[in-house]
Amino acid sequence: MIKPELLDRWKIKNSEDLYGIKTWGASYFEINDKGEVSVTPFADKPDVSVSLVDIIKGIKERGLDAPVLLRFENLLDSQLTFLNESFNAAINDAGYKGSYQGVYPIKVNQQQQVLKEVTRFGERYHHGLEVGSKPELIAALSVMKDKEACLVCNGYKDEEFIDLGLYATKMGFKCFFVVEIPGEVDMILQRSRKLGITPNIGVRIKLASRAGGHWTESGGDRSIFGLNVSQLIDVVDLLKKEDMLHALKLVHYHLGSQIPNIRDIRSAVVEAARVYAELVKEGAPMGYLDLGGGLAVDYDGSKTNYSSSRNYSLSEYCADIIEVVMSIMNEHEIEHPTIITESGRAIVAYYSVLLFNVLDTSTFEHPVVPETLDPETHEQIINLHEVYKGLTLKNLQESFNDAIYYRDIIRDHFKHGQLSLRERSLAESIFWNIITYIAAEKSRVKRVPQELDGIGDAIADIYYCNFSVFQSVPDSWAIDQLFPIMPIHRLNEMPTRKAVIADITCDCDGKIDRFIDTHDVGHTLRLHALNNGSDYYLGVFLVGAYQETLGDLHNLFGDTNVVSIQINKTGGFDIVREIEGDSVEDVLSYVEYDTKRMVEDFKQSAEEAIREGRITAADRRNIINAYQNGLRGYTYYERFEE
Ligand SMILES: *Cc1c(COP(=O)(O)O)cnc(C)c1O
Repeated sequence: MIKPELLDRWKIKNSEDLYGIKTWGASYFEINDKGEVSVTPFADKPDVSVSLVDIIKGIKERGLDAPVLLRFENLLDSQLTFLNESFNAAINDAGYKGSYQGVYPIKVNQQQQVLKEVTRFGERYHHGLEVGSKPELIAALSVMKDKEACLVCNGYKDEEFIDLGLYATKMGFKCFFVVEIPGEVDMILQRSRKLGITPNIGVRIKLASRAGGHWTESGGDRSIFGLNVSQLIDVVDLLKKEDMLHALKLVHYHLGSQIPNIRDIRSAVVEAARVYAELVKEGAPMGYLDLGGGLAVDYDGSKTNYSSSRNYSLSEYCADIIEVVMSIMNEHEIEHPTIITESGRAIVAYYSVLLFNVLDTSTFEHPVVPETLDPETHEQIINLHEVYKGLTLKNLQESFNDAIYYRDIIRDHFKHGQLSLRERSLAESIFWNIITYIAAEKSRVKRVPQELDGIGDAIADIYYCNFSVFQSVPDSWAIDQLFPIMPIHRLNEMPTRKAVIADITCDCDGKIDRFIDTHDVGHTLRLHALNNGSDYYLGVFLVGAYQETLGDLHNLFGDTNVVSIQINKTGGFDIVREIEGDSVEDVLSYVEYDTKRMVEDFKQSAEEAIREGRITAADRRNIINAYQNGLRGYTYYERFEE
């Protein structure tokens, strides 16, 4: 039990520290004086903030419900501005003669709305797009208007892809074909001769430099993409032979995404800048140095080189890049190139927030253990009971060992038919009462034995939540990435429960039990007890990058509702767009069901039930209605409305 005076002493500041919102929130997310998470999109107007609780209220009034993905247009704009302004500041500080021109890699979040916003907000910086496939190029050409912005074409290219890129070049777009494999050069030259259009060619290089983090294999010698040094020389020789060296204008590499350590970033820039300088010496005009993606997001707020974080700030990142490139170019007396980066994650991660409601909880409370047991009770249960009665602060470890010992014997006895289900149930509740006692008291002993470290996690509550990890936060499941998760309200109350989060798929991996923590990874999250009848909402933050399209239809849970929000400088907000999530019918059709046929087949089954005298014709009508309503409904848990 928690003492009432402790409950009273809880302040919003305690919630800020507990959930780390000041560290990962990048001052976009904070807790307002009502104890609700609010969004503050404008660096120059910190007073303008909108509560997530007000937003969810507005959404419900419009007939949509959780789970819902919120997209904040302002945050996309802010991040894009921040990136460009940081590079410009570094360029000014260093006296760099070239400029910065970023491109947004479509694959990070390829929703049409995202592309439109990136090109709209990016126009004042001539921020362009990066495509890695033909469909992405086709998407890019539909939104790109700015002829000053770059269009970088990576990925394997067939004739159709190349022709489209060449036409874009002819229309005046700054389109680059980045050669990923040696064989591509021939095709690019062939098509450009055929169409009479001179291409802009870039080369993707494999670096010897490698980076730590999840995606170490994307860079380095063993990377599957890019040209090694001898292939690069072959490409240069081929271009010379074909009298096309004047088309070679860009060097590109991509070390991998979410690079947590600035040292790895620096060492890759050094190597690429050296290659660039050598290509200039070979006689290529060059002009563009494209450093790929990798700019990390500090998901856990630790500012370290841990894989969910980064040990550098954006201005350090920019300053380091500018400084390295400038010193190498100066050394070789080469004109300063235009620097391109392909940051995706850092631009869109903050943009989306997933909100869902808690449906139910299961707590770890076991029946109170009786003071005395019936003398007829099985001997081993009596032994376990004695452990329970003998618990003191001094013998926690010993009691823990004994409890495990007797519990295992008792479970064995049960398997062999020597104990009844009721007896086993009594034993289990004694056992868990012992564990609960140890977990509660262990903080009062000076040196906690290592074995008891994780004991609190074993008795955590389970909060069942209305979402699917596989659909909405796939990287949490696939690569154990940490995302900030916290309640969006009641933050002026002390959260008294420790919980893990379960989603509503029936997969045992459908859970989140790794959380950001000041020191290490936490295995439980502090949450509030549910108030009967009132909704309790949790938010998963920083899910704008990669999560939306990597998500899958596990257990046939489909896309969630998506709502785009624009916050106004006056403090109000507009719901700019709402996209209803998948219906059951939608997801079934994705896996090739013909829903019309399904209804017909089900009608026949119902007809048969009438013939067998199980239901009436009126029953049939209700049953068919329920089935059809189910098809039209949301795939997630819906509240029943009378
Ligand atoms: C994925 C990818 C990116 C984006 O990387 P981020 O780390 O998200 O910025 C950039 N360039 C290429 C070639 C990529 O494959």
